[in-house]
Amino acid sequence: MTDPLPPIVIPGELLPADGRFGSGPTRVRVSALESLASTGAAYMGTSHRQSTVRDVVGRLRTGLSNLFALPDGYEVLLGNGGATAFWDAAVFGLISSKSQHLQFGEFSSKFGAAVAKAPHLDPPDIIESAPGTHPEPVGRDDVDLYALTHNETSTGVTMRLRRPGPGIVAVDATSAAGGIPVDPEDFDVYYFSPQKAFGSDGGLWVAACSPAGVGRIEAIASSGRYIPPSLDLSIALANGRKNQTYNTPALATIHLLLDTVEWINEQGGLAWSAGRCAANAAIVYGWAEARSYATPFVSDPTLRSPVTATIDLEDGIPYTTVSAILRAHGIIDIDGYRKLGRNQLRIGMWPTVPADDLEALTACIDYVVDRL
Ligand SMILES: *Cc1c(COP(=O)(O)O)cnc(C)c1O
Repeated sequence: MTDPLPPIVIPGELLPADGRFGSGPTRVRVSALESLASTGAAYMGTSHRQSTVRDVVGRLRTGLSNLFALPDGYEVLLGNGGATAFWDAAVFGLISSKSQHLQFGEFSSKFGAAVAKAPHLDPPDIIESAPGTHPEPVGRDDVDLYALTHNETSTGVTMRLRRPGPGIVAVDATSAAGGIPVDPEDFDVYYFSPQKAFGSDGGLWVAACSPAGVGRIEAIASSGRYIPPSLDLSIALANGRKNQTYNTPALATIHLLLDTVEWINEQGGLAWSAGRCAANAAIVYGWAEARSYATPFVSDPTLRSPVTATIDLEDGIPYTTVSAILRAHGIIDIDGYRKLGRNQLRIGMWPTVPADDLEALTACIDYVVDRL
Protein backbone atom coordinates (compact mmCIF):
# COMPACT_ATOMS: atom_id res chain seq x y z
CA MET A 1 0.00 0.00 0.00
CA THR A 2 1.33 3.42 -0.88
CA ASP A 3 0.32 6.33 1.29
CA PRO A 4 -2.38 8.55 -0.18
CA LEU A 5 -1.08 11.84 -1.55
CA PRO A 6 -1.45 14.92 0.63
CA PRO A 7 -4.59 16.73 -0.60
CA ILE A 8 -2.83 19.72 -2.11
CA VAL A 9 -4.60 21.61 -4.87
CA ILE A 10 -2.47 23.99 -6.90
CA PRO A 11 -4.47 27.06 -8.01
CA GLY A 12 -5.11 27.03 -11.74
CA GLU A 13 -3.49 30.43 -12.29
CA LEU A 14 -0.13 29.08 -11.09
CA LEU A 15 -0.04 26.22 -13.60
CA PRO A 16 2.13 26.36 -16.74
CA ALA A 17 0.43 26.60 -20.12
CA ASP A 18 1.99 23.24 -21.07
CA GLY A 19 2.92 20.75 -18.38
CA ARG A 20 5.42 18.63 -20.30
CA PHE A 21 8.90 19.01 -18.80
CA GLY A 22 10.31 15.58 -19.63
CA SER A 23 13.92 14.92 -20.62
CA GLY A 24 13.13 12.56 -23.48
CA PRO A 25 10.79 12.22 -25.14
CA THR A 26 10.35 15.95 -24.66
CA ARG A 27 7.44 18.20 -25.43
CA VAL A 28 6.52 18.24 -29.10
CA ARG A 29 5.35 21.70 -30.23
CA VAL A 30 1.61 21.59 -30.80
CA SER A 31 2.13 23.74 -33.89
CA ALA A 32 4.44 21.04 -35.30
CA LEU A 33 1.74 18.43 -34.69
CA GLU A 34 -0.80 20.67 -36.41
CA SER A 35 1.54 21.19 -39.31
CA LEU A 36 1.90 17.40 -39.62
CA ALA A 37 -1.86 16.91 -39.50
CA SER A 38 -2.32 19.61 -42.13
CA THR A 39 -0.28 17.63 -44.65
CA GLY A 40 -3.40 15.47 -44.93
CA ALA A 41 -3.05 13.00 -47.79
CA ALA A 42 0.00 14.73 -49.25
CA TYR A 43 2.82 13.28 -47.13
CA MET A 44 2.07 10.55 -44.58
CA GLY A 45 1.53 7.25 -46.31
CA THR A 46 3.58 8.16 -49.38
CA SER A 47 6.75 6.47 -50.61
CA HIS A 48 10.03 7.48 -49.04
CA ARG A 49 11.67 6.84 -52.43
CA GLN A 50 9.67 9.61 -54.15
CA SER A 51 10.23 13.34 -54.23
CA THR A 52 7.52 14.25 -51.69
CA VAL A 53 9.42 12.61 -48.84
CA ARG A 54 12.88 13.04 -50.33
CA ASP A 55 12.34 16.79 -50.55
CA VAL A 56 11.51 16.87 -46.85
CA VAL A 57 14.66 14.86 -46.05
CA GLY A 58 16.63 17.22 -48.29
CA ARG A 59 15.27 20.26 -46.45
CA LEU A 60 16.15 18.57 -43.18
CA ARG A 61 19.75 17.95 -44.25
CA THR A 62 20.05 21.56 -45.42
CA GLY A 63 18.33 22.91 -42.32
CA LEU A 64 20.72 21.04 -40.04
CA SER A 65 23.74 22.11 -42.10
CA ASN A 66 22.63 25.71 -41.62
CA LEU A 67 21.81 25.25 -37.94
CA PHE A 68 25.26 23.82 -37.14
CA ALA A 69 27.00 26.07 -39.72
CA LEU A 70 28.66 23.00 -41.21
CA PRO A 71 31.66 23.86 -43.41
CA ASP A 72 31.94 22.55 -46.98
CA GLY A 73 32.56 18.84 -47.11
CA TYR A 74 30.50 18.02 -44.00
CA GLU A 75 27.53 15.71 -44.62
CA VAL A 76 24.32 14.92 -42.77
CA LEU A 77 23.15 11.31 -42.82
CA LEU A 78 20.35 9.51 -41.04
CA GLY A 79 19.10 6.05 -40.25
CA ASN A 80 16.72 4.07 -38.13
CA GLY A 81 17.04 3.09 -34.50
CA GLY A 82 18.02 6.23 -32.60
CA ALA A 83 21.34 7.02 -30.94
CA THR A 84 21.38 3.54 -29.42
CA ALA A 85 21.48 1.94 -32.87
CA PHE A 86 24.11 4.47 -33.89
CA TRP A 87 26.43 3.10 -31.18
CA ASP A 88 26.14 -0.33 -32.80
CA ALA A 89 26.72 1.17 -36.23
CA ALA A 90 29.81 2.90 -34.86
CA VAL A 91 31.10 -0.38 -33.40
CA PHE A 92 30.97 -1.81 -36.91
CA GLY A 93 31.82 1.16 -39.05
CA LEU A 94 33.49 4.04 -37.22
CA ILE A 95 36.11 2.55 -34.88
CA SER A 96 39.19 1.19 -36.66
CA SER A 97 40.53 -0.69 -33.68
CA LYS A 98 40.50 1.21 -30.40
CA SER A 99 38.21 3.83 -28.93
CA GLN A 100 38.29 5.96 -25.80
CA HIS A 101 35.09 6.62 -23.85
CA LEU A 102 34.37 9.17 -21.16
CA GLN A 103 31.95 7.56 -18.78
CA PHE A 104 29.97 9.80 -16.41
CA GLY A 105 26.41 8.58 -16.42
CA GLU A 106 23.97 6.15 -17.95
CA PHE A 107 24.13 7.22 -21.60
CA SER A 108 27.85 7.88 -21.78
CA SER A 109 28.46 4.38 -20.38
CA LYS A 110 26.50 2.47 -22.98
CA PHE A 111 28.64 3.07 -26.06
CA GLY A 112 31.80 1.86 -24.30
CA ALA A 113 29.93 -1.19 -23.00
CA ALA A 114 28.86 -2.07 -26.56
CA VAL A 115 32.44 -1.70 -27.81
CA ALA A 116 33.83 -3.89 -25.00
CA LYS A 117 31.88 -6.88 -26.34
CA ALA A 118 32.92 -6.47 -29.99
CA PRO A 119 35.31 -9.29 -30.94
CA HIS A 120 36.82 -7.34 -33.85
CA LEU A 121 37.93 -4.36 -31.72
CA ASP A 122 40.58 -3.85 -29.05
CA PRO A 123 39.26 -3.39 -25.52
CA PRO A 124 38.16 0.26 -25.23
CA ASP A 125 39.96 2.78 -23.08
CA ILE A 126 37.37 3.87 -20.53
CA ILE A 127 37.83 6.94 -18.35
CA GLU A 128 35.26 7.32 -15.64
CA SER A 129 34.22 10.04 -13.23
CA ALA A 130 31.52 10.35 -10.59
CA PRO A 131 27.99 11.32 -11.62
CA GLY A 132 27.68 15.09 -11.51
CA THR A 133 31.17 15.58 -13.01
CA HIS A 134 32.85 14.57 -16.27
CA PRO A 135 36.32 13.24 -17.04
CA GLU A 136 38.63 14.81 -19.64
CA PRO A 137 39.74 12.88 -22.71
CA VAL A 138 43.41 11.89 -22.84
CA GLY A 139 45.22 11.79 -26.18
CA ARG A 140 46.77 8.38 -26.82
CA ASP A 141 48.61 7.07 -29.86
CA ASP A 142 46.65 3.82 -30.11
CA VAL A 143 43.20 5.44 -29.88
CA ASP A 144 41.56 6.12 -33.26
CA LEU A 145 38.15 7.34 -32.01
CA TYR A 146 37.34 9.52 -29.00
CA ALA A 147 33.74 9.11 -27.83
CA LEU A 148 32.45 12.21 -26.07
CA THR A 149 28.99 13.05 -24.75
CA HIS A 150 28.03 16.69 -25.13
CA ASN A 151 25.26 16.49 -22.54
CA GLU A 152 24.85 13.55 -20.16
CA THR A 153 21.08 13.52 -19.90
CA SER A 154 20.92 11.22 -16.89
CA THR A 155 22.90 13.50 -14.58
CA GLY A 156 22.51 16.94 -16.17
CA VAL A 157 26.22 17.45 -16.92
CA THR A 158 27.47 19.19 -20.04
CA MET A 159 31.06 19.13 -21.26
CA ARG A 160 33.04 21.41 -23.52
CA LEU A 161 34.16 19.50 -26.59
CA ARG A 162 37.82 19.41 -27.44
CA ARG A 163 40.09 17.31 -29.58
CA PRO A 164 42.49 15.34 -27.41
CA GLY A 165 44.80 14.27 -30.24
CA PRO A 166 44.86 12.54 -33.61
CA GLY A 167 41.94 10.22 -34.21
CA ILE A 168 38.36 11.14 -34.93
CA VAL A 169 35.98 12.63 -32.37
CA ALA A 170 32.46 11.15 -32.24
CA VAL A 171 30.05 13.07 -30.05
CA ASP A 172 26.81 11.77 -28.62
CA ALA A 173 24.83 14.97 -29.00
CA THR A 174 21.45 13.40 -28.44
CA SER A 175 20.29 15.89 -25.84
CA ALA A 176 22.69 18.70 -26.76
CA ALA A 177 22.06 19.14 -30.48
CA GLY A 178 19.85 22.18 -30.97
CA GLY A 179 20.21 23.44 -27.39
CA ILE A 180 23.94 23.87 -26.78
CA PRO A 181 26.39 25.79 -28.99
CA VAL A 182 28.83 23.67 -30.98
CA ASP A 183 31.74 24.38 -33.30
CA PRO A 184 32.00 21.87 -36.18
CA GLU A 185 35.79 22.10 -35.86
CA ASP A 186 35.46 20.18 -32.60
CA PHE A 187 33.84 17.02 -33.97
CA ASP A 188 34.01 14.50 -36.80
CA VAL A 189 30.68 12.89 -36.07
CA TYR A 190 27.93 14.69 -34.13
CA TYR A 191 25.03 12.27 -33.75
CA PHE A 192 21.67 12.53 -32.04
CA SER A 193 18.11 11.30 -31.76
CA PRO A 194 15.30 13.75 -32.58
CA GLN A 195 13.18 13.39 -29.42
CA LYS A 196 15.26 15.59 -27.11
CA ALA A 197 16.16 19.22 -27.84
CA PHE A 198 14.40 19.09 -31.21
CA GLY A 199 11.09 17.98 -29.68
CA SER A 200 10.35 15.44 -32.40
CA ASP A 201 9.54 11.76 -31.96
CA GLY A 202 11.97 8.86 -31.51
CA GLY A 203 13.19 6.15 -33.85
CA LEU A 204 15.82 7.91 -35.98
CA TRP A 205 19.46 8.80 -35.63
CA VAL A 206 20.98 11.78 -37.41
CA ALA A 207 24.72 12.35 -37.79
CA ALA A 208 26.64 15.39 -39.03
CA CYS A 209 30.01 14.14 -40.33
CA SER A 210 33.22 15.99 -41.14
CA PRO A 211 35.34 14.95 -44.14
CA ALA A 212 37.48 12.92 -41.72
CA GLY A 213 34.36 11.24 -40.34
CA VAL A 214 33.16 10.42 -43.86
CA GLY A 215 36.66 9.19 -44.72
CA ARG A 216 36.66 6.83 -41.74
CA ILE A 217 33.26 5.41 -42.74
CA GLU A 218 34.47 4.80 -46.28
CA ALA A 219 37.81 3.32 -45.24
CA ILE A 220 36.28 0.75 -42.88
CA ALA A 221 33.50 -0.16 -45.33
CA SER A 222 36.07 -0.93 -48.02
CA SER A 223 38.33 -2.87 -45.63
CA GLY A 224 36.35 -6.08 -45.95
CA ARG A 225 35.12 -6.08 -42.33
CA TYR A 226 31.73 -7.74 -41.90
CA ILE A 227 29.06 -5.04 -41.33
CA PRO A 228 25.32 -5.84 -41.04
CA PRO A 229 23.64 -3.74 -43.77
CA SER A 230 21.17 -1.98 -41.47
CA LEU A 231 24.15 -0.78 -39.38
CA ASP A 232 26.40 0.03 -42.33
CA LEU A 233 27.21 3.73 -42.24
CA SER A 234 28.54 3.66 -45.81
CA ILE A 235 25.08 2.53 -46.95
CA ALA A 236 23.54 5.32 -44.84
CA LEU A 237 25.99 7.74 -46.46
CA ALA A 238 25.10 6.67 -49.98
CA ASN A 239 21.39 6.88 -49.20
CA GLY A 240 21.77 10.22 -47.44
CA ARG A 241 23.30 11.72 -50.57
CA LYS A 242 20.02 10.80 -52.32
CA ASN A 243 17.94 12.16 -49.41
CA GLN A 244 16.93 8.65 -48.46
CA THR A 245 17.46 6.05 -45.80
CA TYR A 246 18.40 2.39 -46.25
CA ASN A 247 15.02 1.17 -45.05
CA THR A 248 11.71 2.90 -44.34
CA PRO A 249 12.01 5.74 -41.82
CA ALA A 250 9.29 7.18 -39.56
CA LEU A 251 7.88 9.92 -41.78
CA ALA A 252 6.14 11.67 -38.88
CA THR A 253 9.42 11.88 -36.96
CA ILE A 254 11.13 13.44 -39.97
CA HIS A 255 8.35 15.98 -40.45
CA LEU A 256 8.30 17.02 -36.78
CA LEU A 257 12.08 17.30 -36.72
CA LEU A 258 12.15 19.45 -39.84
CA ASP A 259 9.39 21.68 -38.50
CA THR A 260 11.36 22.45 -35.34
CA VAL A 261 14.74 22.79 -37.11
CA GLU A 262 13.24 25.33 -39.53
CA TRP A 263 11.47 27.11 -36.66
CA ILE A 264 14.77 27.46 -34.78
CA ASN A 265 16.54 28.67 -37.92
CA GLU A 266 13.82 31.27 -38.52
CA GLN A 267 14.16 32.54 -34.94
CA GLY A 268 17.91 33.04 -35.31
CA GLY A 269 19.47 29.58 -35.41
CA LEU A 270 21.54 27.82 -32.81
CA ALA A 271 22.61 31.07 -31.16
CA TRP A 272 18.94 31.79 -30.52
CA SER A 273 17.97 28.34 -29.27
CA ALA A 274 21.07 27.99 -27.10
CA GLY A 275 20.41 31.45 -25.68
CA ARG A 276 16.87 30.43 -24.87
CA CYS A 277 18.09 27.30 -23.07
CA ALA A 278 20.69 29.31 -21.14
CA ALA A 279 17.98 31.76 -20.04
CA ASN A 280 15.74 28.86 -19.02
CA ALA A 281 18.59 27.35 -17.05
CA ALA A 282 19.21 30.62 -15.22
CA ILE A 283 15.61 30.51 -14.04
CA VAL A 284 15.73 26.93 -12.79
CA TYR A 285 19.20 26.91 -11.19
CA GLY A 286 18.62 30.39 -9.80
CA TRP A 287 15.40 29.20 -8.20
CA ALA A 288 17.05 26.08 -6.73
CA GLU A 289 19.94 28.08 -5.28
CA ALA A 290 17.52 30.49 -3.64
CA ARG A 291 15.54 27.71 -1.91
CA SER A 292 16.68 26.08 1.32
CA TYR A 293 15.11 22.75 0.31
CA ALA A 294 16.58 22.49 -3.20
CA THR A 295 20.18 22.28 -4.50
CA PRO A 296 21.53 21.87 -8.03
CA PHE A 297 23.03 18.35 -8.13
CA VAL A 298 25.95 19.45 -10.30
CA SER A 299 28.06 21.52 -7.93
CA ASP A 300 30.34 23.12 -10.57
CA PRO A 301 28.16 25.75 -12.29
CA THR A 302 30.21 25.50 -15.50
CA LEU A 303 29.22 21.83 -15.88
CA ARG A 304 25.51 22.39 -15.30
CA SER A 305 23.47 21.43 -18.31
CA PRO A 306 21.48 24.24 -19.92
CA VAL A 307 18.93 21.70 -21.19
CA THR A 308 18.38 19.20 -18.36
CA ALA A 309 18.52 20.45 -14.78
CA THR A 310 18.99 17.93 -11.98
CA ILE A 311 17.83 19.37 -8.67
CA ASP A 312 18.29 17.53 -5.37
CA LEU A 313 15.57 17.94 -2.76
CA GLU A 314 16.09 17.97 0.99
CA ASP A 315 15.65 14.53 2.58
CA GLY A 316 12.30 15.22 4.22
CA ILE A 317 10.74 16.14 0.87
CA PRO A 318 10.41 12.99 -1.25
CA TYR A 319 10.63 13.82 -4.94
CA THR A 320 8.12 11.02 -5.59
CA THR A 321 5.45 12.88 -3.60
CA VAL A 322 6.21 16.25 -5.22
CA SER A 323 6.21 14.68 -8.66
CA ALA A 324 2.98 12.74 -8.06
CA ILE A 325 1.12 15.84 -6.88
CA LEU A 326 2.36 17.81 -9.87
CA ARG A 327 1.45 14.96 -12.20
CA ALA A 328 -2.12 15.05 -10.86
CA HIS A 329 -2.12 18.68 -12.07
CA GLY A 330 -0.82 17.85 -15.55
CA ILE A 331 2.84 18.72 -14.82
CA ILE A 332 4.65 15.59 -15.88
CA ASP A 333 7.92 13.70 -16.28
CA ILE A 334 10.11 15.60 -13.82
CA ASP A 335 11.28 12.57 -11.84
CA GLY A 336 15.04 12.18 -11.49
CA TYR A 337 16.78 9.51 -13.52
CA ARG A 338 15.81 6.23 -11.86
CA LYS A 339 19.22 4.56 -11.89
CA LEU A 340 20.92 7.59 -10.36
CA GLY A 341 18.84 6.82 -7.27
CA ARG A 342 18.80 10.30 -5.73
CA ASN A 343 16.02 12.35 -4.17
CA GLN A 344 15.99 14.49 -7.26
CA LEU A 345 13.88 16.24 -9.86
CA ARG A 346 15.04 16.46 -13.47
CA ILE A 347 13.63 19.28 -15.54
CA GLY A 348 13.79 19.66 -19.33
CA MET A 349 14.60 23.24 -20.39
CA TRP A 350 14.64 22.65 -24.15
CA PRO A 351 14.32 25.31 -26.86
CA THR A 352 10.67 24.27 -27.13
CA VAL A 353 10.03 25.19 -23.46
CA PRO A 354 9.23 28.88 -22.93
CA ALA A 355 10.62 30.65 -19.86
CA ASP A 356 7.09 31.40 -18.61
CA ASP A 357 6.40 27.70 -18.23
CA LEU A 358 9.55 27.20 -16.18
CA GLU A 359 8.68 30.18 -13.95
CA ALA A 360 5.27 28.59 -13.43
CA LEU A 361 6.79 25.17 -12.75
CA THR A 362 9.08 26.50 -10.04
CA ALA A 363 6.17 28.39 -8.48
CA CYS A 364 4.13 25.16 -8.47
CA ILE A 365 6.96 23.20 -6.82
CA ASP A 366 7.23 25.92 -4.15
CA TYR A 367 3.47 25.82 -3.63
CA VAL A 368 3.51 22.06 -3.06
CA VAL A 369 6.63 21.97 -0.87
CA ASP A 370 5.31 24.80 1.33
CA ARG A 371 2.25 22.68 2.09
CA LEU A 372 3.84 19.27 2.63
C1 LIG B 1 18.24 9.68 -24.93
C2 LIG B 1 19.69 9.52 -25.14
C3 LIG B 1 20.22 8.44 -25.86
C4 LIG B 1 19.36 7.32 -26.38
O1 LIG B 1 18.54 7.75 -27.43
P1 LIG B 1 17.59 6.69 -28.14
O2 LIG B 1 16.91 7.47 -29.21
O3 LIG B 1 16.64 6.16 -27.09
O4 LIG B 1 18.45 5.59 -28.67
C5 LIG B 1 21.58 8.39 -26.05
N1 LIG B 1 22.40 9.34 -25.58
C6 LIG B 1 21.93 10.40 -24.89
C7 LIG B 1 22.89 11.44 -24.41
C8 LIG B 1 20.57 10.52 -24.65
O5 LIG B 1 20.10 11.58 -23.97
